[in-house]
Amino acid sequence: MALDSKIPKGPLADQWTKHKNDINLVNPANKRLIDVIIVGTGLAGGSAAATLAELGYNVKAFCFQDSPRRAHSIAAQGGINAAKNYQGDGDSTYRLFYDTVKGGDYRSRESNVYRLAEVSSNIIDQCVAQGVPFAREYGGLLDNRSFGGVLVSRTFYAKGQTGQQLLLGAYSAMNRQIGRGKIKMHTRHEMLDVVIVDGKARGIIARNLVTGEIERHSAHAVVLGTGGYGNAFYLSTYAMGSNVTAAWKAHKRGAFFANPCYTQIHPTCIPVSGDHQSKLTLMSESLRNDGRIWVPKHMKDVEAIRDGSLKPTELAEDDRDYYLERRYPAFGNLVPRDVASRAAKERCDAGYGVNKTGEAVYLDFAAAFMRYGKEQAHVKGLDEDDDALVRKLGQEIVKNKYGNLFQMYEKIVDQNPYETPMMIFPAVHYTMGGIWVDYNLMTTVPGLYAIGEANFSDHGANRLGASALMQGLADGYFVLPYTIGDYLADDIRTGPIPTDSKAFDDAEKDATDIIDKLINNNGTHSVDYFHKKLGKIMWNKCGMARNAKELKEAIVEIAELREEFWKDVKIPGTADAYNEELAKAGRVADFLELGELFAKDALVREESAGGHFRDEYQTPEGEAMRRKEFQFVSAWEFKGEPKDAVLHKEELAYENIEVKERSYK
Ligand SMILES: Cc1cc2nc3c(=O)[nH]c(=O)nc-3n(C[C@H](O)[C@H](O)[C@H](O)COP(=O)(O)OP(=O)(O)OC[C@H]3O[C@@H](n4cnc5c(N)ncnc54)[C@H](O)[C@@H]3O)c2cc1C
Repeated sequence: MALDSKIPKGPLADQWTKHKNDINLVNPANKRLIDVIIVGTGLAGGSAAATLAELGYNVKAFCFQDSPRRAHSIAAQGGINAAKNYQGDGDSTYRLFYDTVKGGDYRSRESNVYRLAEVSSNIIDQCVAQGVPFAREYGGLLDNRSFGGVLVSRTFYAKGQTGQQLLLGAYSAMNRQIGRGKIKMHTRHEMLDVVIVDGKARGIIARNLVTGEIERHSAHAVVLGTGGYGNAFYLSTYAMGSNVTAAWKAHKRGAFFANPCYTQIHPTCIPVSGDHQSKLTLMSESLRNDGRIWVPKHMKDVEAIRDGSLKPTELAEDDRDYYLERRYPAFGNLVPRDVASRAAKERCDAGYGVNKTGEAVYLDFAAAFMRYGKEQAHVKGLDEDDDALVRKLGQEIVKNKYGNLFQMYEKIVDQNPYETPMMIFPAVHYTMGGIWVDYNLMTTVPGLYAIGEANFSDHGANRLGASALMQGLADGYFVLPYTIGDYLADDIRTGPIPTDSKAFDDAEKDATDIIDKLINNNGTHSVDYFHKKLGKIMWNKCGMARNAKELKEAIVEIAELREEFWKDVKIPGTADAYNEELAKAGRVADFLELGELFAKDALVREESAGGHFRDEYQTPEGEAMRRKEFQFVSAWEFKGEPKDAVLHKEELAYENIEVKERSYK
């Protein structure tokens, strides 16, 4: 199958306007005749559901939580980007586009990213109109801060709870439509399969998680806004329920996956503390606006810190290595996430990690306390030479900016980050890979769309901070509502889609067969036992440092683990009632399949990109080769030629073979 990204012709800056002018529309009266299923009501799905219903479509929305408000999007802390240039610091649509493409190691689809940058400003206006309480400066104007990989301040935020506030906005917009009857909301429903009728996505099979009932739902199009799959690594910053099932089932029905191995490893997470852990915690990237990252310069100090005989606050400035400021003077601590993560790993691999496991670096606010404190003392006419006073004043400012993050750190680590530097280490945080979509956000299955983190198109090999919320809301509020009409215009006379067809029978049977097998397996190990094992393989062999030998081992090990899972997993309880372990088992079964594709993708990518580096390239010659490759792509890209830089020829062939020949279980 040839992939056609359907990128409009012409200069990047004109493509979206031209496309909107050219595509088919569905008139308001005909929209009432069309049903759309939206699976996932996080920021992407929630905004899409609200907007499509507002336009007049009949929306059926699904999420597995008890409320759309509990989607993983709620966890987003730091902010959302937009090219408003409120700071007058040189920002523009082009710069946001450029930063995002460059930040993604030139592996994003430029046309989609340009459109994203273009609509970014509308998102802020839309959310302000909904009442989202973005932070404001004293004079009442919206405030901005910086995130990694950029030289401007374009990030809008609501304290450390931006995702929550944006989600409440989308949820309110959805609720208006739920109240009008235009959205039928199905909470605690898990999509188990997509139903393809005559080559088009026409419905889903879902399990009511409370009663265990299997249900059929039909529509003229199906949209997946089901989030990312970083929990394949077991330990990650994701919500515990985030999973790949919807995307994976869509893949098995013919939707291509793109870049499955591109995972974001976020540099500022609380380090792993032991085997008992089931979750990792992010410390927002916004902290790098004011925190400085360092490790000791000398091994004797590392050892003294580890054995407790030296406190980090006692180490002289000259004996500290602020390695990001040293290596990347222009960006300093605000380098992109992949660069910061790789640098932290490099220091820790060289033995300079500051905690007992040797896998932690410091994020230190001491300098910010003094900087802000001096300014405050000056403003208030107090003694600028009184260090204790200045520090206290500075801490108040930092508390106002990041108070909830500091509190969270103290609760988890039991150390006061106002008194001692935070310890951080990279952790799995976001998946840039996902379901392949064209410019209209349609997958390779006609009528099946993917939006938000579930698709692949905008972030290349590394997503810049504060751009996931931007993409999810751009897709949901401003892109899909236009592009889906182009497809649905052909369906105005189709009428309701029946659910008593063979395609629905077959899909339902496939779903119930899996459930029956899981529930009757009577094995000896819990689902978590297998999930943890998978996570270890993924992190150790498909994580940041990768090489062909270990990736090949991972492929075999994951396949073996999958076999063991199906022989030996034990699920207590029954299928006709609430059974969290059963739901988890289905998700882990899909991670065990995705994991193999992930490792295969990493294996064929003989490149270092984003947070991943192939050991083969960790020589001076290899690094030089990598740089040359980027320069080439970079020069080529900015001539403005549209190119689907994602799946090159060999991988296309590989994808085709995979889709045809893969068989599981
Ligand atoms: C701790 C943390 C902080 C972050 N901070 C930021 C930030 O400051 N700025 C930023 O831009 N990004 C941030 N991100 C990333 C960002 O939050 C996510 O990428 C984004 O919210 C994903 O939104 P989404 O709507 O695509 O998916 P999600 O919010 O994950 O929503 C997925 C939806 O799909 C549903 N679903 C999934 N599978 C099924 C199924 N099989 N059946 C039915 N329903 C299903 C779920 O119920 C849910 O409603 C952060 C991420 C984390 C983990």
